[in-house]
Amino acid sequence: MVTMQKRHITVLGATGSIGLSTLDVVRRHPDRFSVYALTASTRAEDLAGLCREFRPKVAVLADSAAADVLRGLLSDLPEISVLGGAEALSTVASAPEADTVMASIVGAAGLPPTLAAVRSGKRVLLANKEALVMSGRLFMDAVAESGAELLPIDSEHNAMFQCMPADKVRDPEAAGITRILLTASGGPFREHSAESLANVTPDEACAHPNWSMGRKISVDSATLMNKGLELIEACWLFNTKPANIEVHVHPESIIHSMVEYVDGSVLAQLGSPDMRTPIANGLGWPERIDAGVKPLDLFSIARFNFEKPDLLRFPCLRLAAEAFEAGGTAPAVLNAANEVAVAAFLDGNLRFSDIPVIIERTLAATSVIPADSFETILAKDAEARRQAREQIGLLTV
Ligand code: NAD
Ligand code: MG
Repeated sequence: MVTMQKRHITVLGATGSIGLSTLDVVRRHPDRFSVYALTASTRAEDLAGLCREFRPKVAVLADSAAADVLRGLLSDLPEISVLGGAEALSTVASAPEADTVMASIVGAAGLPPTLAAVRSGKRVLLANKEALVMSGRLFMDAVAESGAELLPIDSEHNAMFQCMPADKVRDPEAAGITRILLTASGGPFREHSAESLANVTPDEACAHPNWSMGRKISVDSATLMNKGLELIEACWLFNTKPANIEVHVHPESIIHSMVEYVDGSVLAQLGSPDMRTPIANGLGWPERIDAGVKPLDLFSIARFNFEKPDLLRFPCLRLAAEAFEAGGTAPAVLNAANEVAVAAFLDGNLRFSDIPVIIERTLAATSVIPADSFETILAKDAEARRQAREQIGLLTV
């Protein structure tokens, strides 16, 4: 019998929705996985609890003051080194002691450590779609140069990946692929009128009908920006264009996406809406491992529905497609403006229906330049954030 090689894992964003689901899969397979590092932003107590269970070699909090608190909480476990500060995220993401990195920080903050993991040639499980949206070509070039093994964790992209021949993921034409059918739940406001979208609350936006997720991605699902980011993500991962991808609103969230072939075959991946399935697929790849997910009961679901997305009520999907077509730094600006607008909405400082307004105005006010270095992209990200804040100020005075 061949002895299985144990994977040593770093989880970036361990206290989040994806981080906790990842650790739940890891917990089920102590023979396969050990945890090298766990990271989070500020939550010292949550991270301390995870450290007690998973006994990583290193724990990182991006917030240095919170890292001091964590050091105190773990003083009886001196074998765990506690680091503080954003740079330490990249240090553990590229450390030779780990071979696998779960990139599950939310937003642009995840780009530097995810890139560090890519550059050091690891298996990178990509949940942090914002990192790829911001830096598309440079990110994929870095994957090619380092030989990193990039596996999609976003449920739709993981579904597409499962429906493609593994050796032709970057060459859809050679694989005979004619179209990708990207499914969307439609979010909690799928049936809301345009007028009523002005008054929806953050809690309503975060009450997703099928998935339990972090607050930022929940709002993105409600505006359909999540689908826009995923459209761009699919273009980079599978080396294709928006014209070859069609969004299908499928409110049941059972089909996680489909791939159409030149002979008329359409392959779909189905499953309960539980992120542990794509996470287990990435962790175990190419083997299948138990994810703790309940089996699908198609008799109780009974029906699948499909509809076209309504770009008038949900303009974010259109804005994302346009930003991808504009190229260069436009997707980074789109992403930054969206992060600022969503944060303002969650803080009660912006109406839901003004999120696309802020993004559109920020895109119009920020020049597009070639995305020729990560420094350029981060500078545009900062410029777009300033611009988006200014636009929010203009709306609310
Ligand atoms: P979340 O808000 O639940 O968790 C985010 C994690 O990132 C936390 O551990 C937090 O401590 C950490 N973090 C936040 N800001 C940070 C910073 N500045 N520096 C360092 N760490 C920071 O988010 P989530 O729902 O788990 O989503 C994580 C990523 O996965 C997002 O990019 C999201 O789009 C993607 N994703 C999530 C789901 C889902 O079901 N939740 C599905 C597909 C893709
Ligand atoms: Mg998704």
